[in-house]
Amino acid sequence: MKFYDAHNHLQDGRFAGRQGELLAACEKSGIARMVVNGACECDWPQVAALARENEMVLPSFGYHPWYLHERTPDWLANLKKFLDGVPAAVGEIGLDRWKPDLPYAGQEEVFLAQLQIAAERNLPASIHCLQAWGRLHELMRDHPRPARGFVLHSFGGPAELIPALAKLGAYFSFPGYFLNERKARQRETFRLVPPERLLVETDAPDQLLPADKNPFPLTGGDGRPLNHPANLVAVYAGLAEFLGEKTESLAARVEANFQRIFGGW
Ligand SMILES: [Zn+2]
Repeated sequence: MKFYDAHNHLQDGRFAGRQGELLAACEKSGIARMVVNGACECDWPQVAALARENEMVLPSFGYHPWYLHERTPDWLANLKKFLDGVPAAVGEIGLDRWKPDLPYAGQEEVFLAQLQIAAERNLPASIHCLQAWGRLHELMRDHPRPARGFVLHSFGGPAELIPALAKLGAYFSFPGYFLNERKARQRETFRLVPPERLLVETDAPDQLLPADKNPFPLTGGDGRPLNHPANLVAVYAGLAEFLGEKTESLAARVEANFQRIFGGW
């Protein structure tokens, strides 16, 4: 069985230089590929370096809404330069009306500029969306999109929007965090995701699995728990159990989906 992580942040500073060790554990666990998402200009070089050094890593470059205030005047040219350098995806990009004190003004403009690049180059785009689902749907409907589709990472939107978003090319990615009991409602929406549009992710080092489903416990330098990217296998197992199917059949389906949207560069 091969496993595919549709979304993580292996470059994250909280991993404190342990990336080699984490990747070795992932390889041993059967993880074939992972999409490593940059979030700002300051971490794009690290994402590019990880991809150069490890075949398992598919690099993705984008400005996450949380870091827009850090943009340099050259950010868009800089993004294109990173996308020119290696076969890569666009992300993490998105809209966020949830984070306290985060200005919404300007988010749409930056999101659309990046979506436009993904559409022009037909690159998969990885999208973060919190409390802006209706607006995201409108923007995706009314603007050019990558023909190969786009990923709604940690999909937490309303069930009613799934068919409309799927029609626009959305893939829906399931994080281990949704195996927590308090996320039961969000987990339920995944029953409505079209089988050919389902992906699985860790979002490591964030979105921890429940303690009893966390085979690779990991602690950061500040003593806080981190999500290990090799926990992906446990996310597959938890999702398969929830959907009432064998991990093997889920893995085969997710492999085909992952290859369809992220493969073929
Ligand atoms: Zn992320």
